[in-house]
Amino acid sequence: DARFDHPLCVAIEVAGQGACLPRSSGIPDDWFDHDGQITKRPVRALTLSALAPRAGEHLWDIGGGSGSIAIEWLLSDPSLRATCVEAQADRADRITGNAAHLGMDRLRVITGRAPEALQGLDRPDAVFIGGGLSLDLLEQLETLAKGARLVANAVTLDSEAILTQAQRRLGGDLMRIDLAQAAPLGKLRGWKAAYPIVQWSVTL
Ligand code: SAH
Repeated sequence: DARFDHPLCVAIEVAGQGACLPRSSGIPDDWFDHDGQITKRPVRALTLSALAPRAGEHLWDIGGGSGSIAIEWLLSDPSLRATCVEAQADRADRITGNAAHLGMDRLRVITGRAPEALQGLDRPDAVFIGGGLSLDLLEQLETLAKGARLVANAVTLDSEAILTQAQRRLGGDLMRIDLAQAAPLGKLRGWKAAYPIVQWSVTL
């Protein structure tokens, strides 16, 4: 193509071909290999906003799943660190692969169950609970992560009950995220609702 004859145009042309990683939190789900257990893009964006990363901080991502939360935490600044704790070995491997795919070498992945697997980890500045929520876990975090910002997402009634009780005791913000997306309904379209998510944010 004659328009690209100048040597500098090679770079411009190449840069225009591939997938482009957005600078905002809430990147498309297909940047992450996953088995369906992933915090979807809009909820992930709200979650990262609540986690509010600041330079130099360390995140614990408990119930890492695909690692999307920890990896987006790392993407937001090169000074950040993260540790994922994931109970299932196949998912832990997937987290490692997803981090490598996006060039994030500041992530440590622990295969194990919270709260036991948290013992001995470097102290966090922020903690996300995306799986494995229990009263025992919250109690242990009150000591292990004292002073950290905690964000917990609940999708079941059972985990929601734990969060609403904990908020009565410890304060913080409870938010319900109720999203729906337009989808085919017969020949027309309707709003297909996602399960509501209850999100609790608090400083421990
Ligand atoms: N935020 C993740 C999705 C989390 S799905 C993402 O965006 O990809 C919840 C995950 O928690 C599952 O992978 C499950 O295996 C894990 N999990 C459940 N109980 C756990 C526990 N006690 N300790 C560690 N991981 C746990």
